[in-house]
Amino acid sequence: MTTVVIVGYGMAGARLAAELHAQPGDRKVTVLGAEPHRAYNRIMLSTLLAGKLDEPDVELTEAAGHGVDVRTGVAVTAIDRAACEVRTDDGDRVGYDHLVLATGSRAMVPPLPGLDPAALPDRVAVFRTLDDCRRILAMARGARRALVLGGGLLGLEAARGLAARGLDVTVVHPTGHLMERQLDPAAGAVLAGTLAGLGVRTRLAASATGLAADAHGVRLDLSDGSSLTADLLVLSCGVRPDTVLAAAAGLTVERGIVVDDRLRTSDPRVSAIGDCAQHGATPSGLVAPAWAQARVVAQLLSGVDPHAAYRPRPAVTRLKAAGIDLAAMGDTAEGDRAGDGPVEELTFADPARGTYARLRIRDERLTGAILLGDNPAVGTVVQLFDRGAPVPSDRRALLLGRTLGGTPAAPATSPALMPDAATVCQCNDVSKGALVRCWRSGGRTVEAMSAATRAGTGCGGCRDALAGIVGWLAEVDPVADEPAGLARTDLTGGGPPTLAGADLVNDDSPRTRHDRVEVA
Ligand SMILES: Cc1cc2nc3c(=O)[nH]c(=O)nc-3n(C[C@H](O)[C@H](O)[C@H](O)COP(=O)(O)OP(=O)(O)OC[C@H]3O[C@@H](n4cnc5c(N)ncnc54)[C@H](O)[C@@H]3O)c2cc1C
Repeated sequence: MTTVVIVGYGMAGARLAAELHAQPGDRKVTVLGAEPHRAYNRIMLSTLLAGKLDEPDVELTEAAGHGVDVRTGVAVTAIDRAACEVRTDDGDRVGYDHLVLATGSRAMVPPLPGLDPAALPDRVAVFRTLDDCRRILAMARGARRALVLGGGLLGLEAARGLAARGLDVTVVHPTGHLMERQLDPAAGAVLAGTLAGLGVRTRLAASATGLAADAHGVRLDLSDGSSLTADLLVLSCGVRPDTVLAAAAGLTVERGIVVDDRLRTSDPRVSAIGDCAQHGATPSGLVAPAWAQARVVAQLLSGVDPHAAYRPRPAVTRLKAAGIDLAAMGDTAEGDRAGDGPVEELTFADPARGTYARLRIRDERLTGAILLGDNPAVGTVVQLFDRGAPVPSDRRALLLGRTLGGTPAAPATSPALMPDAATVCQCNDVSKGALVRCWRSGGRTVEAMSAATRAGTGCGGCRDALAGIVGWLAEVDPVADEPAGLARTDLTGGGPPTLAGADLVNDDSPRTRHDRVEVA
């Protein structure tokens, strides 16, 4: 019997354990996780912080006791590669035939005078774990003002969450515009305007130079000589892959633990997946690659597919913040130009309405896009980018979401018009075709499809699209003998099912931000 040890019970480690359990073969799987709780959906911490979900809603149930030995609150302190065993902080030694490192990332703490990363002062927190989230929520209770250091994706999600709880929030960001890795300055400015309308102020091009904090509040000193005071401070200054164990064990480490297409490290008996792994030039820091990597490792270790290889896919970034529709993908940041050849660039900005759109097209394919504000074409754009499909000749339809005549650009009000290959759930890489197959094999509710394919279990952004597909299938592919208890009528809502019905209106529920799935 093969013994597999997984270090890290986060989103990648939990998924790998579940994938291994699902594969045939006789093996012992042990998961060692430093956090004291069961694995949870880290992505949804932003939604938890905003008060749109409760803690039980973010728990990951997969790999929960199904033939897997899960030990929580146990940190691995060393890897002895010669003896093929790991040592734990409770004094145990656990032997392995194959070791998988899924140690994730750690939140970075900036080197500020007055800030000890090992012991953050009162009223100061990072935002990475469930315990961090609990700490922020405890500090926010009774607080009036909050500071967030870092205007990247996570910082803005934290800021929006705190503003939704009624706090007066200021984001301090060192560069001239927000989310500079994903946005150009014009988009950053429109986003800052949208945030201002939601109660989040921004201080741009301002570096923190010092910090004073005690039980009563914080003072953040800035490079221009000014200071900001608040009841709490959230540090959102980026993450760093957790490579400590791997480096100490002599594995090749650059920014992350270097892995090949089979996710093998420099030691063939050790793999790495998720945020800690570096496949190509940089670690990904996103859940879709982590889950795709978990699947590849499970296929290889179980022998189900000895040729399985990880192939990265282009990433689409979406902000999970109520009241802000933002999707960015590809070479969007200023000065970022992937590849050669002439680039067709289209931009539309309406700052007063919080709308900005920018498309970059090369050889009739999208190489990058930013869509900010309500744009009905966002699902179409994501699909075209994801599949590398040719863009329609009427570019306005993509840029504005409608033609000049005012006709909506996305005529596909039915999933019938989507190609089978279109990805509905980006986190789990689930296509429309897979959902149709699931329907035909008996999964006839959103919950059943979700359980069978995992669609909707990542950021949850596609759940309304999923409901649209279920509704459409109920209409076009009715089942003669409907099994009892299947709530088809709930899905169709009385009218003909359309994807417009599953469209993106931000109604403030945690499930409403999702990819539209219409394809022109
Ligand atoms: C608030 C928030 C929102 C996010 N939103 C998105 C999003 O919308 N989309 C997206 O794609 N990504 C998002 N991410 C990033 C996403 O959560 C990560 O990409 C994902 O969690 C990576 O999974 P992982 O298992 O590699 O790492 P993690 O989930 O961090 O898990 C690593 C685990 O390993 C444990 N560990 C580390 N060292 C040891 C050791 N020595 N011994 C035992 N255990 C150890 C850690 O304690 C941790 O539990 C978000 C992250 C945060 C914090």
